[in-house]
Amino acid sequence: MTTTAGPYAGTTRLDARRRVLELDALADAPAVDLLVIGGGVTGAGAALDAAARGLRTVLVEARDLAFGTSRWSSKLVHGGLRYLASGRVGVARESAVERGVLMTRTAPHLVRPMPQLVPLINGLMRPGQASLVRVGFVAGDALRLSAGTPGALLPRVRRVDAGRARQLVPGVRTDGLSGGLVAHDGQLVDDARLVVALARTAAQYGATVLTRVRAEQVTGTSARLIDGLTGQSLTLTARAVVNASGVWAGEVDPSIRLRPSRGTHLVVDAAALGHPTAALTVPVPGSTSRFVFALPQQLGRVAIGLTDEDAPGPIPDEPQPTDGEITFLLDTVNAALRTMLTRADVRGAYAGLRPLIDTGDGATADLSRQHAVLESPEGVITVVGGKLTTYRRMAQDAVDAAVRLRGLSARACWTSRLPLVGAPAHRDSRPAPAAAPDSLLARHGGAAHEVLAAGDLAPIADGLDVTRAEVAYAMSHEGALDADDVLHRRTRIGLVAEDADRARSAVAELLSTTGR
Ligand SMILES: Cc1cc2nc3c(=O)[nH]c(=O)nc-3n(C[C@H](O)[C@H](O)[C@H](O)COP(=O)(O)OP(=O)(O)OC[C@H]3O[C@@H](n4cnc5c(N)ncnc54)[C@H](O)[C@@H]3O)c2cc1C
Repeated sequence: MTTTAGPYAGTTRLDARRRVLELDALADAPAVDLLVIGGGVTGAGAALDAAARGLRTVLVEARDLAFGTSRWSSKLVHGGLRYLASGRVGVARESAVERGVLMTRTAPHLVRPMPQLVPLINGLMRPGQASLVRVGFVAGDALRLSAGTPGALLPRVRRVDAGRARQLVPGVRTDGLSGGLVAHDGQLVDDARLVVALARTAAQYGATVLTRVRAEQVTGTSARLIDGLTGQSLTLTARAVVNASGVWAGEVDPSIRLRPSRGTHLVVDAAALGHPTAALTVPVPGSTSRFVFALPQQLGRVAIGLTDEDAPGPIPDEPQPTDGEITFLLDTVNAALRTMLTRADVRGAYAGLRPLIDTGDGATADLSRQHAVLESPEGVITVVGGKLTTYRRMAQDAVDAAVRLRGLSARACWTSRLPLVGAPAHRDSRPAPAAAPDSLLARHGGAAHEVLAAGDLAPIADGLDVTRAEVAYAMSHEGALDADDVLHRRTRIGLVAEDADRARSAVAELLSTTGR
C-alpha cells in the first residue's frame, strides 16, 4: 500500500521536500502497519521487504542512511568460505545463496566478481597451509554450485604462475614467488550505495523513509519520533515495530545484549600496490583461518583490512582505529609486498563495529555471524547479527516474524526477485548513455541516465573521480541533506580526509544552488 501521495508516489526519488511532506502526513495520520528503526542495510532491507508485501511501512534513521556499521564493511558479498572453515555450513550456504541473488537479480550493477589472489611465496605460509587454502576454495566452489551461481560469473579456483600473479597484483613480493591461487567472490562498489538503493526502492513501493528522525520510548506498538532538524516530535503507533539499529539495538531495546567487535581498514593509494585488479590475500601469522586483504576499491584506492577486536563500552558514533590495529595491518600485508608500505602511505583509516550477539565467552572472532530475530517482553522485534551479504534474508525473517506475531495481512516475501533501483531489470533503468564514464556507471548502473540529467560531468574537485552530476543527484534523488551525507555516504570521497576537504566547498555550493 502506498503511503506517499502527490508527486513522489511510486517513485524512487528521496529529497528534502519529500521528507517534509511525509513527516507532515505522518503527523496527520500517525498509525501504520510496521515501523522499522535504523537505516542501515538491515533496516532498509526490512522496509523494502515489508513495503513490497503491501504493508504500510515507515523507516526512521536517526542520522543518515548507512550512517552506522553498513558503511564500514570490507564491501565483500561473500560466499561464506570462512564459516565453512569453522563447520558452520548453514551460515555459509545462506551467504552463498544471497550472494547469488545480489549478483544475478537484485543488484548486479553494484556487485562485481572480484579475483582474490593468495600468493605462493616461500615462507609466507606454514607447511601444508596452501593445501588447506586450496581445499577451502574448492569447497567454496561447491557452495557456489549448490547455490546455483554460474561459474561464468564466479570462475572456479585455479592455480596461476608467478607472471600472472604479478599481473593481478603488481606490488606482490617477487622473491620466492612461485605463483598463486586465484578464487572469485563478489565485491560491492560501495556498501553505502547498496543501503541507499534499498531505501529508494522501498520508497518506490510506498515506504516512508525518514532520515534525521530518532526513535525513542520504543514499545512493541509505538515510538516517539524526534525530528533532528526541527526538534518536533510525534508518537507513531504501529502494529509491529522492528528494531534494526545494529550495534545500537540495546539502546532501543534494553533486553538486547550485544558484544560489539571492531574491524579496522586502512586506505592507501592503489598506486602503492601497482594498481592491483585482484584482492591480495595474506595469511595472518599463527592463524590457519585468518587473512588480511588488500582490496582494490573505487576512486583509485586499496582498502587493507581487517581486524577483529573486542569493543566493550558505550557505542561511539564513529569508531576509531587504534594504533595497534594500524601496525598489525601494515605488518601483515607487508610480508607479501615488494615495497613495504609505511604509515606515510596510509591516506585514511576507518573502523566499524560488528553487531554480534553476546553468547557469553570466547573471542569475538569466534562469535557466530548468524543473525537472530528476537521478541522482547515489550513486544519489540529485534533483528541483529548477520552480515551485509545476508541482509535480505534477515529482512525476510524479521518481517515474517512481525506478520506472524501480530497477525498482519501481507503477501509472501518476494525480494529475491525484486530488482533494486539501478539494476538492469528495474523499471526505470535504461541502457548506459554513451557519455557516462565507467566509474559513474559502476556506481549508478541503469540509473546513469537520470544522473546525467541532474548535472554536468566535470569532477567535483580536481583529481577526484566523482562528477558534479552525481553530487546533484545525491541531493535530488538519493536523500542527501547536507555536505556530509554527500561526502561520506552517497560518495566515499570522505574516506580520505584531504579529499573531503578539497571537495567540500564545491559540494556546499551545489547544495546552496539547489535551495538547501
Ligand atoms: C569492519 C567490518 C567489515 C565487514 N565486512 C563485511 C563484508 O565485507 N561483507 C559482509 O557481508 N558483511 C560485512 N560486515 C558486517 C556488516 O557490515 C554488518 O553486519 C551490517 O552492516 C550491519 O548492518 P545493520 O543495518 O544491522 O546496522 P547499521 O548499519 O549499524 O545500521 C543501524 C542504524 O540504526 C540507526 N539508529 C540507531 N539508533 C537509532 C534510533 N534510536 N532511531 C533511529 N535510528 C537509529 C543508526 O544510525 C544506524 O544507521 C562487516 C562489519 C564490519 C564491522
